[in-house]
Amino acid sequence: MAKFEGYKDIYVFVEQRNGEIANVGYELISEARKLVASIPQMGFQVVGVLLGHNVTDKANDVIAHGADKVIVADHELLEGYSTQFYADTLTQIIETYKPDSFLTGATVLGRDLAPRVAARLNAGLTADATKIEIDQEKVADGEALLLVTRPTFGGNLFGTIVCPDTRPQMATIRPNVFSMDPVDTTRTGEVVAFTPDFKDTDAKVVVKEVIAKVVEGIDITKCDILVGAGRGAEDCLDMVEAVAEELGGAMCASRAVVDDGFASKDIQVGQTGKTVRPSLYIACGISGACQHVAGMEKSDMIIAINRDPQAEIFSIANMGFIGDVKEILPLLKEEIIAA
Ligand code: FAD
Repeated sequence: MAKFEGYKDIYVFVEQRNGEIANVGYELISEARKLVASIPQMGFQVVGVLLGHNVTDKANDVIAHGADKVIVADHELLEGYSTQFYADTLTQIIETYKPDSFLTGATVLGRDLAPRVAARLNAGLTADATKIEIDQEKVADGEALLLVTRPTFGGNLFGTIVCPDTRPQMATIRPNVFSMDPVDTTRTGEVVAFTPDFKDTDAKVVVKEVIAKVVEGIDITKCDILVGAGRGAEDCLDMVEAVAEELGGAMCASRAVVDDGFASKDIQVGQTGKTVRPSLYIACGISGACQHVAGMEKSDMIIAINRDPQAEIFSIANMGFIGDVKEILPLLKEEIIAA
């Protein structure tokens, strides 16, 4: 008999707010597809879990993004995010369907919800992960053991965490770490309605008002071209920003530039900033510290400009220029525009 009889499939929490699904849900579904494809002998499916009110019609979008099945809990108490009602519902869904693993975006909502559900289920949770694999050696024993990697010790080390004794194996994963597969509207899948059984419908916490944060400027996680300014570009930030705009992108920054007071935290890239994966990332005067690299290494093309030939950034760059940002960036811009 398999060690975890009855547990199967990879479930993904599909986060939505006001009916708008966060990309991280689709990123995790795309990654879950790769994981199930790596263990065809297990016959696993990818299952999306959607909670909210008047959200059932969104299930087809989730299927078009790669889910084989979507479990939808559509209930008026799930209208806005409530830790209490969302945790109640998710716990019941997991107890009913017994997922082998359960993935959630490491968003503000996901970081609040997933640990509570894990604690209720006595399940193992790896928080804030950046990589997931399946231990192929265990598959022969009928086990799909997740190897979940996350930065630790201030980003100086990466730890791989396993939950060998409990199911589901839970993890929260940072947004933008995985790419999203193209949408396929011809895909078909099963939509299952789940009715939560709330023992207590009195909300312990009532959200009276939601004040949306006004993001100043451009959302760097959505940009296709980013020009990153490091401390080595602090004396020419206007030029870096102008080049970014001319290339149709935006400027982002290392933490050094933010800490020095030259840029807003909204545009910081890295472990304690945002994770980005543009088509082109031009790193200007950035040393390449692991905490910065953790936020941009998945970019399709990385071009680095640094006057120090030994700078770490060159080890992950597809193309590097040794010299002064002020001299090289304008020339590089002309080359890119001409290309
Ligand atoms: P520096 O390390 O000062 O490097 C400047 C570089 O510019 C050097 O390589 C230099 O050779 C080059 N240079 C100087 N002048 C020029 C010039 N004129 N032309 C060309 N090159 C030039 N950092 C982040 O970025 N994001 C994070 O999210 C983040 N999180 C962190 C979390 C923790 C817990 C810790 C401990 C650190 C974190 N850091 C983060 C900080 C990180 O360790 C580095 O200190 C930071 O990334 C350095 O920024 P920098 O490369 O811009 O500056």
